[in-house]
Order: sequence, then structure tokens, then C-alpha cells
Amino acid sequence: MCDHFDLVVVGGGIVGLAHALAGVRRGLSVALFDRDERASNASIRNFGFVTVTGQRAGRTWERARYSRDVWDRVAGPAGIPVVHSDLLVVAHRPEAMAVLSAFADTDMGADCRLLDRTGLYDRLPMAATGATGGLYSPHERRVEPRTAIPALWSWLEMQGVRFFRRVAVRGVEPGFVDTTVGRFRAGHIAICPGPDLATLFPDRLAAHRLSLCKLQMLRVAAPGWRLPAAVMGDLSLARYDGYAALPAAAPLRQRLQAEVTDALENGIHLIIVQSADGSLVIGDSHHYGPTPDPFASQQVDDIILREARALLDLPPDLAVQERWNGYYPSSPDQTAFIDHPADGIALTMVSSGTGMSTAFALGEEALAQLLGEPDPLAI
Ligand SMILES: Cc1cc2nc3c(=O)[nH]c(=O)nc-3n(C[C@H](O)[C@H](O)[C@H](O)COP(=O)(O)OP(=O)(O)OC[C@H]3O[C@@H](n4cnc5c(N)ncnc54)[C@H](O)[C@@H]3O)c2cc1C
Repeated sequence: MCDHFDLVVVGGGIVGLAHALAGVRRGLSVALFDRDERASNASIRNFGFVTVTGQRAGRTWERARYSRDVWDRVAGPAGIPVVHSDLLVVAHRPEAMAVLSAFADTDMGADCRLLDRTGLYDRLPMAATGATGGLYSPHERRVEPRTAIPALWSWLEMQGVRFFRRVAVRGVEPGFVDTTVGRFRAGHIAICPGPDLATLFPDRLAAHRLSLCKLQMLRVAAPGWRLPAAVMGDLSLARYDGYAALPAAAPLRQRLQAEVTDALENGIHLIIVQSADGSLVIGDSHHYGPTPDPFASQQVDDIILREARALLDLPPDLAVQERWNGYYPSSPDQTAFIDHPADGIALTMVSSGTGMSTAFALGEEALAQLLGEPDPLAI
């Protein structure tokens, strides 16, 4: 007789961990399978930036608010330091300031504060010269993903989740999970495979018209000052749905298209966050395809660094300490989805760059759907 668990989770990235947490919260016996010894994909390669402000209006924004609150609840018990909180969006072009003004008038801008030029430099003296103002948001958190995700594995293990490391799940059917170490029985199954679109329910995934997105990231040496918050700039306002969908974003996009064509062509927008040792994580670019190449382009890194200098007053001799690529599945229209390919099986995928910000809500939603409970975000 094979082992039985109330819930089997496939995938130990942030999405799988969120489902495991949702199972633990309900007192279920939970097993989690990952084909790797430890998570090593998008969930540890991102900024660790739990972003609320700027997310797509509606469900995505609601998921981000919900998930941020879960991060606040679990970070302490799981031993995950919140490296910094809040967000400062710096507007250099007047068109960017117009987007921020329009955003501040929406429901999503309610708790944010528009900053004039003086207010911006008071809060962010290291902003590059020429800023016209900005926006302060109190909603964000930042964790160090490369330590936060392993800490979540350890903490969930202490909560009773059984982790099966270096075990691939080869097939799933209602009530059963076939793995490289044998067959398991499962009351419910949550599949959270990240960018693996080929192993489990590939036909089902194909219907979502997914491609993969490749992103380049950099870590640079400590600049000698501390950021008071995560920082974004003009380019982000043309990319993050919460801003970019506003009519006021059209003139900004036009101007960026004329002035920084290469940045737009490479899907570059700027997020800069700081780690505990003072080093800065700077990114990122976006290139799409069924199998994006694995090579980090120096030309793309140079554009990212040029735009970082346009955003913050960085030292001239900035040393790049690390470069890496990340990959995630990308959908033309959905930021995430929960599919149900068969009875008792949820297939959850974040199909945009928002998983650190929204996964905890998705885990709760998927479990609620599997167990016939009301929508947790509507309660
Ligand atoms: C460079 C970069 C920057 C980003 N920045 C941010 C950010 O600042 N804020 C934000 O909210 N989001 C950000 N994101 C997006 C976020 O990182 C992802 O949405 C999220 O990590 C996806 O988590 P996941 O668990 O779905 O996937 P993954 O982290 O890819 O994990 C999937 C796991 O499933 C396992 N697996 C798959 N199939 C099987 C199988 N058959 N059997 C066993 N194991 C299997 C894999 O081994 C893997 O460990 C960023 C992403 C990247 C790449």
C-alpha cells in the first residue's frame, strides 16, 4: 500500500510553498515534491520584492494585498528578515509625473502619497538629478529570496510538511501521484510547476498560450548609502499594469520610445532594491520565446546599468558582483491562473512576474476551490 497524504504539492517554488502553507493552515497532511535538492528557479532569482502598488487593477492587486499580509504573518515565525519596506517611484520626465498623479487618484493610490521634487529628494537624497517628483507607497516588503525560500522550506517542514527532494513527479491522476520514487495516494493534488510546461497536463497548459520569459539581473557592490525603500522609475510606469493601463501612460510611452528605444526593445524597466550587506539588486530585462536562450547579454546589462544611473546617483566605479538570468511562464492576458484539469487536482501558475507578490493568495484560493470553500479573498 502506498503512502497517503491529504494534499500533495508538486513544486517547491513560492507557489508550491503557498499551497503547502494553505494545507497546513487547514490541518491537512501535506507532502511536497521537487525534482531539485532545493528551489533554484524564479523563486530565488527574483528581487524578493512583494509589490502591491502598480499591480494590475482588480484580482491581481487584491491578491498582492492579501499575500503581503501573509508575508507579514509568516516572515517572523519562519525567521525571514524583511530587508526593507515601502516603495518610492521616482519620476524624471514630466509625463511620468502625470502618470503618478493619475494613479494617485485611483482606488489603488488611496494610501500612497504624491511627492513634489523637494519631498522626493528629502526621502531619497540618492535619486539622480533632474527628478520632477515621485510617489511613496507604504505597501511593499522586500525579502532576500535566496535565503527566504529555503527558510520557508525549513519552517514548513517543522510545521509537518513532508518534503521529497530530488523527486520528480511524472504523472498525476485523481487520487494518485506517480513519482521517480513510486506512487503516492493523495486526497487533493496541487501542481505548481513554474516554467515546466511539458511534463504535467501539457495540453491543458497549451490552451493558456504560454511562452517563457527570460530576465537578466545584476548585483552591484554597496554604494555607501542605504535605500529607504525599493525604487522604481519612469520605465516601470510604462510596464507595470497598474500604471501602464492608465490613459496618462500613453504620452510617457511615446517619449520613452523616442528617447530610450533600446531599453523598451529589451523589455527593460528598473527596480532597485538593497540587501542587508548594502549591495544593490538591479534589473531587469524581458525576452520571450518557447525556449529563450540561456546567455546573458553584456549589451542588455549595459542598458540596465545606464538606466540605473539615470535613476539613482550611483558611484562611478560601481563593481558588478553577480549576474544571473531568471525564467518564468508568461501569458498574453493572465497574470496567473488556477486550472482544474481533473477532480481534486489544481494546476496553479503565475504567468507574469508577480509570484512573490501574489502566491500566498493563489495558494489559499486553490485550496478553497479544491475543498469547496468560499473565495478567501471575498471574505
Ligand atoms: C528575475 C526575476 C525577477 C522577478 N521579480 C519578481 C518580483 O520582484 N516580485 C514578484 O512578485 N515576482 C517576481 N518575479 C516572479 C516570481 O519570481 C515568480 O512568479 C515565482 O517565483 C514563480 O514561482 P513558482 O513556484 O511558480 O515557480 P518556480 O520558482 O520556477 O518553482 C517551480 C518548482 O517546481 C519544480 N517542479 C516543476 N515540475 C516538477 C515536477 N514534475 N516534479 C517535481 N518538481 C517539479 C521545479 O523544480 C521548481 O523548483 C520575478 C521572476 C524573475 C525570474
